[in-house]
Amino acid sequence: MQREQKIGTITKVSGPLVVAEGMEGAEMYEVVKVSKEKLIGEIIELEGDKASIQVYESTSGIGPGEPVYRTGAPLRVELGPGLLETFYDGIQRPLDVLEKQTGAFIARGVEVPGLSRTKKWEFVPKVKKGDKVEEGDALGTVQETTLIEHKVLVPPRISGTIQEIKKGNFTIEEVIAKVKNKEGKIDDLKMYQKWPVRKERPTKEELIPIEPLVTGQRVIDAFFPITKGGTACIPGPFGSGKTVVQHQLSKWADADIVIFVGCGERGNEMTDVLLEFPELKDPRTGEPLMKRTVLIANTSNMPVAAREASIYTGITIGEYFRDMGYKVALMADSTSRWAEALREISGRLEEMPGEEAYPAYLGSRTAAFYERAGRVICLGSEKREGSLSVIGAVSPPGGDLSEPVSQNTLRVTKVFWGLDDALASRRHFPAINWLTSYSLYAKEIEPYMKEKVAEDWVELRTEAMVILQQEDSLKEIVRLVGVEALSLKEQLVLDTAKSIREDFLQQNAFDPIDTYTSLKKDYWMLKIILTFHQKGLEALDRGVELEKILTLPIKEKIAKAKFVEEKKMGDLEKLVGEIGKVIEGVKVEK
Ligand code: ADP
Repeated sequence: MQREQKIGTITKVSGPLVVAEGMEGAEMYEVVKVSKEKLIGEIIELEGDKASIQVYESTSGIGPGEPVYRTGAPLRVELGPGLLETFYDGIQRPLDVLEKQTGAFIARGVEVPGLSRTKKWEFVPKVKKGDKVEEGDALGTVQETTLIEHKVLVPPRISGTIQEIKKGNFTIEEVIAKVKNKEGKIDDLKMYQKWPVRKERPTKEELIPIEPLVTGQRVIDAFFPITKGGTACIPGPFGSGKTVVQHQLSKWADADIVIFVGCGERGNEMTDVLLEFPELKDPRTGEPLMKRTVLIANTSNMPVAAREASIYTGITIGEYFRDMGYKVALMADSTSRWAEALREISGRLEEMPGEEAYPAYLGSRTAAFYERAGRVICLGSEKREGSLSVIGAVSPPGGDLSEPVSQNTLRVTKVFWGLDDALASRRHFPAINWLTSYSLYAKEIEPYMKEKVAEDWVELRTEAMVILQQEDSLKEIVRLVGVEALSLKEQLVLDTAKSIREDFLQQNAFDPIDTYTSLKKDYWMLKIILTFHQKGLEALDRGVELEKILTLPIKEKIAKAKFVEEKKMGDLEKLVGEIGKVIEGVKVEK
C-alpha cells in the first residue's frame, strides 16, 4: 500500500467531482483518497492550493470539511502475470475479489491490488548472472494460461548487468532478479511493474501497419480491412448485430490477446458482450477464450468518472502485451459513454463547453487514445515486433453520426464499419453497409494481399465494389421507370450484385463453416461470382438470352460456396473453370 498523507480539506462536493483546499505540493493526475472513507480519486485540475478531484466511487454522504489524503502517485495499473482471465473494474480492481470482500453491492473505499499477492507463478529465467540487459528485455517467462506465455520484461528505464536471477515458484512481490546499472546502483526486479495509465508505454520504433488483422468476416477482410496495429470505428444502433460482430472479432481475429473494455451502457447495465464473454470458446484451441482475454467493465454502482479511466486502463494493459511481442486487439464499447463521462466532469468543472456541451478537448483526447494503437518494434535488444489494434464502438443517439463523438472518432480512425439498422431488419448479417463503410488501409495491405492471397486480388475486390455501387444507382432507375428501362447487361449487373450480397457478404456467425472464412477462400468466392459475371457478359454479346444465363443450375453451386470447407477450397478453384465451360456452352437460339 502507498503511504498516505493528509493534506487537503474538502470544500465542495458535486457528484463525482470534489474540490479540496490546502493541496499545495499535490500534482496533476495524482491519485488521492477522499474523506474518511478513503474513496479513490484523481486530481484533474490544480489552481494554487485548490484541487478538483474526480472520484471513482459514489460521493453520497461526503461533505465539506472532510480530509483528502495524497498518495504521491498517478493512477497506475499493475502489469504482470494474472491479468489474463480477469474481470476488472475501470481502475483495475478485480471484480471477483471485490465481490468476495464486500458482497455484490461493492462497498466504497476498498483497495484491492490488480494482481494477486499470494498466487505463485513458475518463473523460468531466460538470462543468467553476468548477462547485460536493457529495458524491454525478457528476464524470463511464466506460463500464464494454457494459451499464453507471459514474458517478464525489464521495465522501461532500467538496464545493467544481472547480479542475481531466480528460478522457481514465486509470488509477484518476490524479487526474481537484481540488476546493477552503470552507476553501481542495484534494482530489485519483480514479476510485475506499475505504469501510469495516461502515459503511453515507450517503444523503439513505430512501423506502418501493412498486414491485415484477419477477422474471418468476409465483408471486413475483403472490403473494409483493418490492419494489425490499425484503428476502426463501429457504430452500434440497438439490434444491429453489434454484439455478434464483437464476439466474432474476439473469437476469430488473428490476435494473440483480446482486451475488451465495457465503458458502461445506458442505465449502467453491463453490456451483453461482457456477460457472455466467459462462455465463449477460442475456436482454434477449444479452450475458453478468457485464457487470452482481459475484460474491463464498470460495475453498476461506479460513477461516470470510472468510465473515463477504464479505456486508459485497458489500453495500458494492451500496450504491455504488445511490448512482449504479441498481437493485441482492443475493443472499447462504447466510447460514447466515455465521452459522456468527460462531458459530465467538464460541466461540473464549469469549463467552457464546446459542441453539444462536450469539452473542447474531446477531439484531442479521442485522438490521443487511438494514437496509442500501432505496429511497433518493442523495447529490448532482441528485435521483437508487436501490434495493438483498437476497435472503438460509438453509440450516437438516434444513429446520427454527425454528433461530436462520432465525428471526432471518424477523424482519427482509419476504418469505418457502418452497421445498419435497415440491413439488420432485412436479416442481412453482418449488417455492415457496403456503401457507407470504408477502410483507408486497403491500399497499404495491397502488397501483402497480392503476395499471400492472389496477384489479381486488387482488381477482383475493386470490380466487386464497383458492381455494388452500380447496383445502387441502377436501383434508382428501376424504382422510377421499371426494370425494362435497363439494358440486358445492366440487368446482369443487378443479378451479380445480388449474388455478391447474398452469396458473399452475408455470413452466418452461427454456422460452423460459414462463421469463418480465410483470405484465400474470400478470393475464390469472389472469383467464382465475378467469373460468372464476366462469362455472362460475353454470352450476352453472343446473343444468349439473359434468362438462360440466370437460370443455369450452376448458380446453385455459387450460392453454396460459403459452405465449402476450407480444406476443400480446391473445389472452388475447379468451379471457376466449370462456370466458364457451362456458360460458353449455352447455345444461342436462332
Ligand atoms: P445488438 O448487440 O446490436 O443489439 P446482436 O448482436 O445481439 O445485436 O444481434 C441481434 C441478433 O441478430 C442476433 O441475436 C442474431 O440473431 C442476429 N445476428 C446478428 N449478426 C449475425 C450474424 N453475423 N449471423 C447471424 N445472425 C446474426
